[in-house]
Amino acid sequence: MTSEALKSVLANARRITIKVGSALVVDSATGVADAAWMLGLARDIADLRAEGRSVLLVSSGAGALGRRYLGLKRAKLKLDEKQAAAAAGQPRLMSAWEAAFSQVGLKTAQVLLTREDTEKRRRWLNARATVDTLFDMGCVPIVNENDTVVTEEIRYGDNDRLAARAAQLIRSEVLILLSDIDGLYTDDPRRNPEAQHIPVVEKLDASIEAMAGGANEQAGVGTGGMATKIAAAKIAGSAGCATLIAFGQTIRPLSSIEKFTVIRPQSSATAAYKSWIAGTVVPAGKLMLDEGAVRALHNGKSLLPSGIVDVVGAFDKGDSVSIVAPSGAEVARGIVTYSAAAIRLIRGRTSKDIESLLGYTAGDEVIHRDDMVLV
Ligand code: GLU
Repeated sequence: MTSEALKSVLANARRITIKVGSALVVDSATGVADAAWMLGLARDIADLRAEGRSVLLVSSGAGALGRRYLGLKRAKLKLDEKQAAAAAGQPRLMSAWEAAFSQVGLKTAQVLLTREDTEKRRRWLNARATVDTLFDMGCVPIVNENDTVVTEEIRYGDNDRLAARAAQLIRSEVLILLSDIDGLYTDDPRRNPEAQHIPVVEKLDASIEAMAGGANEQAGVGTGGMATKIAAAKIAGSAGCATLIAFGQTIRPLSSIEKFTVIRPQSSATAAYKSWIAGTVVPAGKLMLDEGAVRALHNGKSLLPSGIVDVVGAFDKGDSVSIVAPSGAEVARGIVTYSAAAIRLIRGRTSKDIESLLGYTAGDEVIHRDDMVLV
């Protein structure tokens, strides 16, 4: 379905995050949702899904739709008015997406995030678990910032960076930013006919950032110009995710992409996540294992409660801990699914007993192998 150029970027992408700006979703002449365009994107997303990929959509447009619905005509709104507009617009945005996706047989779900949700580890893990469950259920999660409750200091403010965080959250291999410009140029192409399109950025260095901050800063409507797109690419890149910037104002916005800029990450998404676990996190405690559990980890298994002999420290679910062999050597690090107090109750027992011992279960594994790195 997709162009050859796009196909090669998406070749190994299991999870794709797509961000669409207000200018695409909301018809500028009428101020209402552009149903035909939304249906076109829903069809493209259905094709990606049919290829076995999970797709998360980050959609702006709540503010623009709510502004029209509430009859707020002034060009510049105060913060509380913007938040009111987003509150009124968000259900309209979702109902327009729901109408589009239902025509291609896909279910949708609304996920409203704030910066705290993507920066506090516990909330990050909760959000990730919910989105994973939505994927398992075959839904297309539709993300926006929870504009109604965030204040100026603590908000993302633009959906480009929010989308990059969402891409990182779900371990996307590719983030697609659809906007009104087909990528990065050496200069503003509307003012300088000599401006060169940049198809591939192998390394996001200072010269590229300077380009986005200068002539291209104003390129693109909505909150984010090219500068926020480059900022998004930086976040995504550090999580091993490629960023693709493409023109989205066509009726089948993905399948018609020919020209775009792709900004390559420095490593794979999995490698980036594992190096984050191994390197940047100070362990909050220790889990002492028996020999059998150490062998199981070396064979690529998750850590189950049965192999845990002792727990050191007071840590929370979502913290990074050190995993220690009977010899005292650290064998791995990982992110725990249960708190220290909970693990003290379930250690040495089989996973089947977790629910009766704790009164709840967060899964069979104390540390899932995807959240663990051998050291
Ligand atoms: N969250 C805002 C909205 O839906 C959009 C922010 C942006 O355009 O980047 O209205």
